[in-house]
Amino acid sequence: MPTDDKWIEECCEEVLKFTGSLAPEWANRIAIARSERNWTSRQFLGAMIGWMLDNGYHLTAPQHPFFQPGAVPMVEKPCELCGKLFKPIIPGQRFCSETCGISYLKKMEAKAA
Ligand SMILES: [Zn+2]
Repeated sequence: MPTDDKWIEECCEEVLKFTGSLAPEWANRIAIARSERNWTSRQFLGAMIGWMLDNGYHLTAPQHPFFQPGAVPMVEKPCELCGKLFKPIIPGQRFCSETCGISYLKKMEAKAA
């Protein structure tokens, strides 16, 4: 798995884009905070997660409807490793099983080494 700064920044950017896509006001707040602080995506996520942990919000369930059980219709899709069709349990699930997920990570680690 690549661990360079550019790749991590791109991943953090995707997380912020996804988060902003869930609610327009979140996208605005993210844009304002980043602009005010001149943060990279990685700095923004690190700062926000650290703040949440320091303030004890890590045990509070997000209130956005997207995170409520059954809120997102899950359609069958192919596993990114084995290709078998499966019905995701959580949004963004990429693999049919933990075995496939771990095998994929090991494959990526071997590629990066
Ligand atoms: Zn699979």
